[in-house]
Amino acid sequence: MYEGAVQDLIDELGRLPGVGPKSAQRIAFHLLASDTADVRRLAEALLEVKARVQFCETCGNVAESERCRICADPRRGDDVICVVEEPKDVVAIERTREFRGRYHVLGGAINPIENVGPDDLRISQLMTRLADGAVTEVILATDPNVEGEATATYLSRLIAPMGVTVSRLASGLPVGGDLEYADEVTLGRAFEGRRVVGG
Ligand SMILES: [Zn+2]
Repeated sequence: MYEGAVQDLIDELGRLPGVGPKSAQRIAFHLLASDTADVRRLAEALLEVKARVQFCETCGNVAESERCRICADPRRGDDVICVVEEPKDVVAIERTREFRGRYHVLGGAINPIENVGPDDLRISQLMTRLADGAVTEVILATDPNVEGEATATYLSRLIAPMGVTVSRLASGLPVGGDLEYADEVTLGRAFEGRRVVGG
């Protein structure tokens, strides 16, 4: 335990995902040894992101206005929606350049152990988007792990009866992993080779 401000900083850093007590301590002392100007830039970037970035009211992606760049782009197709867990998955799929439709970000996956149920995800918002019949295909691009599969199964049972084609990314993605860790070629192939599920 350190005194006052140093310990406060270590405690705050330790609350970040993936930062254990040792890393928190290392980062704190790195900052302590850094130039004031560098630390100020970091502090400003943290405040700036909270002040400027919000979640797109249509798809849930990160946005700097009410709608994200992709929802606001008139050149993208309105007939296909790709459903992902997190905004970082949108970035991963955009890198493949395989997809020209719209996205829907759930904000996670169904996970009974961590008490995340369907009502905690942006599923009702997705159903609202499908209600007018303009969307003909929903691609389920949740992560290739237990939670992602459970979420995909839940969604396909919900969506297929609406007469919308539901597809899932082809196998070949590293099982148990995270979509964002798949390389562009593998993810691109999984996209091309997607298969229809449910219905
Ligand atoms: Zn959007």
